[in-house]
Amino acid sequence: MDLLVRNATLVTSKGRRVVDIAIDGAAFVAIAEPGQAALRGDDEIDASGLHALPGLIDGHVHFREPGLEHEETWLTGTRAAVMGGVTTVLEMPNTVPPTDTVERAQSKLALAALSAYCDFGIFGLVGESGESVAELARSGRLVGLKTFLGPTTGGLRAPDDDGLRRALTIGREYGLRVAFHAEDREIVERSEAALRATGRTDALAHLESRPAEAEAAAIDRAGRLLHETGAPGHILHLSSAAGLAAVERWRAAGVDLTCEVTPHHLLLDRDVYETAGGVARVNPPVRGEPDSSALRAALADGRIDCVATDHAPHLAEHKLRASIWEVPSGFCGVETMLPLLLTRGVQEGWLSLERLAEVTSEAVARIWELGPRKGRVEVGADADLTLIDLDRPGVIHAADLHGKNNLSPFEGVRTRGAAVATIVRGRCVMRAGRLALDPGWGRAVIR
Ligand SMILES: [Zn+2]
Repeated sequence: MDLLVRNATLVTSKGRRVVDIAIDGAAFVAIAEPGQAALRGDDEIDASGLHALPGLIDGHVHFREPGLEHEETWLTGTRAAVMGGVTTVLEMPNTVPPTDTVERAQSKLALAALSAYCDFGIFGLVGESGESVAELARSGRLVGLKTFLGPTTGGLRAPDDDGLRRALTIGREYGLRVAFHAEDREIVERSEAALRATGRTDALAHLESRPAEAEAAAIDRAGRLLHETGAPGHILHLSSAAGLAAVERWRAAGVDLTCEVTPHHLLLDRDVYETAGGVARVNPPVRGEPDSSALRAALADGRIDCVATDHAPHLAEHKLRASIWEVPSGFCGVETMLPLLLTRGVQEGWLSLERLAEVTSEAVARIWELGPRKGRVEVGADADLTLIDLDRPGVIHAADLHGKNNLSPFEGVRTRGAAVATIVRGRCVMRAGRLALDPGWGRAVIR
């Protein structure tokens, strides 16, 4: 064996047990009772007292390369990922140029392979013209398609209903789920114009400009079109109880509709606009109670399928602008997801460790059909593993994070529990808080 992880408490959605985990090459080759099999590894990790999760998969990141390398790159984004226990990332298409042709998808994958610390998949864009979607889908380079129903970073518009129907039909034919940024453009533009006219420039005005009804209306539009076409869909970063109710209505109507929630929509309250100002600006906005508790309950009981970070960093000088209308939306998140969920979910008791394993790995692999090799700790699967110490204390500080731009609305938050080793396809990429491998190990996921 190349690597033996001894005495780990393996946690999956089905439960937990103490095991030895043997890895040869890139795959798991044995998962056995401790000491039972005569297993030997060239390298061994004593995981006594540690928990092992199926390698975390962040299904929603923006790593900004190509085109916006001043904000993030594949190297820095995946470095932050593995430091936070993430073994696979799925990256969004609003780079410059956007990922809207086969050529651009191929060149993004080639770029990522040069410097990624972890594995990766990419989404293709359903842009305003809807062009090239069929070729993109046919190319086999994507894990899914994405469309932006509301105004956000990149200014990429969705097609009209006819164009969306065509794209969804293509998605269905090629087995590609379509992900929706679900905010209604008309409602958001109208609300924002009205607020700007009053002279408001404070951070809370951003929340008021993007009401929950904008999310629910966009989900209703997506649901209606998915229902008409029979295509599978996914709602990104669900932020409200009203949005959740809309998802539930379309599921009841028979639509194959999955959804995700971010740590910030689950855990932040409205007072973040006072403490963090524009740093907290994100689309859709953080709403706080009572929406956040509705989202926590739904994540715990299965109505929300998974967690994703929407990691979307910007330059500090842009996030700290005085007027909220001049501040770009989004912030980093891929590195802080696990400590936040352990501290504010598992330790607080509303999220079990078993459910955590499901929503940060197993379910993500299932939704995006990452094949039999991702999201599971089984013989033959890719040896992706996140070892965690539930007691490890930490504090979230921008200066300690490993992305390129690290401002976060969670600045100063004390955490308990963190990844202490990140194993990607059999190789220990992070160990004891240090990078243990050169960049470039990451590979595109094969569906
Ligand atoms: Zn996003």
